[in-house]
Amino acid sequence: MFKLSRKNPSHTKTIEFNWVKKDFMNFKDFDDARERMGLRRFKKCFWCGHGFLPEDMMAIGEIIGNGNKFLCQECVKDF
Ligand SMILES: [Zn+2]
Repeated sequence: MFKLSRKNPSHTKTIEFNWVKKDFMNFKDFDDARERMGLRRFKKCFWCGHGFLPEDMMAIGEIIGNGNKFLCQECVKDF
């Protein structure tokens, strides 16, 4: 299991993933495909808010109880 956590002033937020795939897809290919299919676009890392650049490799992970999310390489570097 892979976990991400961060401290806020009042508490630590932690999310747990069932699985993570680090080399999911190049962002530009992903975004172009979703645009062609008329699907919702994802421009930012779910966890840190990093705006994906065209050349970025996206990671994908399934949060326990909350479906699939897209992440940047920085957030999954410890996976
Ligand atoms: Zn990130």
